[in-house]
Amino acid sequence: MKIFKTLATVLAVGAMALTASTAVFAQDKGAIGIAMPTQSSLRWISDGNELKAALEAKGYSVDLQYAEDDIPNQLAQIENMVTKGVKALVIASIDGTTLSAVLQQAADAGIKVIAYDRLIRDSANVDYYTTFDNFEVGVLQAGSILKGLGYPDQKGPWNVELFGGSPDDNNAFFFYDGAMSVFQPLIDDGTLVVKSGQMGMETVGTLRWDGAVAQARMDNLLSANYSDGSRVDAVLSPYDGLSRGIISSLRGVGYGSADQPWPIISGQDAEVPSVKAIIAGEQYSTVFKDTRELAQITAELVDTVLTGGTPAGLDTTTYDNGVKVVPSILLTPYEVDVNNYQARVVDSGYIKAEELQ
Ligand code: BGC
Repeated sequence: MKIFKTLATVLAVGAMALTASTAVFAQDKGAIGIAMPTQSSLRWISDGNELKAALEAKGYSVDLQYAEDDIPNQLAQIENMVTKGVKALVIASIDGTTLSAVLQQAADAGIKVIAYDRLIRDSANVDYYTTFDNFEVGVLQAGSILKGLGYPDQKGPWNVELFGGSPDDNNAFFFYDGAMSVFQPLIDDGTLVVKSGQMGMETVGTLRWDGAVAQARMDNLLSANYSDGSRVDAVLSPYDGLSRGIISSLRGVGYGSADQPWPIISGQDAEVPSVKAIIAGEQYSTVFKDTRELAQITAELVDTVLTGGTPAGLDTTTYDNGVKVVPSILLTPYEVDVNNYQARVVDSGYIKAEELQ
């Protein structure tokens, strides 16, 4: 009996010690605020979850907030995190120019600020930026469209329409510029024809990355420029959510049938409904950015900085935010189409095979 009692005591004490040490461990390293833009796109939900888990695994507590694409809401969430005394802020901004005042408060309080995926502009108080090679994303989108059109074996000319991302998101300009670095020479030599004439981010941008806005613009492009029987051969779309709106618009006027096949349409983020659309032949491609990797390297960066280390492998030339060049970590994006989605997004565990059924 005695031995059981002793064993029970040992176990109980051990359990208490374990609970106490876990609690102390979590408190020891402090809180991190994560401000995400919206839950309307799957990628940000997975970014938030992955980041939270990675930081918690390193012993931090996490305040994760989503602002549903409302700028004052995101501002209030970040102000609240600063007031609560977080040690670092990880921010995927909605409008990367609106945070200067709260970031000054953060800097005054010694809080480290990491711009996550989207650069925060016009502030000296951004310590680091973790993202993908955003120019390369655009290069991949345009290159993939050319591949889908059969260039250079086929010569064109092809009608192409251009869509940009949200003009308040710095990334949108990098995506567009990357794509145009590939397209512009072919527009100049007549291989590609922008029948609407609509070019430049100020004209083709899509506020808040809203698929309904892209759908409405595609409706207008079709009725104003393609009612004469001519066809759209390709659409540059910078994000899967916009591609889905564009596809709906095209379906509405009969594309996707034997005599009117789908144009070649790009995308980004490898969202489940869009990978399904790629398998169904409606969308040609997407760009896969492994957000698990982004979350992981960001959590490591936060931990390195907060424990007094020096982050390695930083890019110190690419991202000028208008006030300073923000030291950055740039991950690699990949083109995904019907031929390689299995290897890239399913075998890597990013999307489960059954989600694509
Ligand atoms: C991200 C993209 C995303 C877009 C819309 C951009 O800042 O880099 O991955 O498709 O926002 O959410």
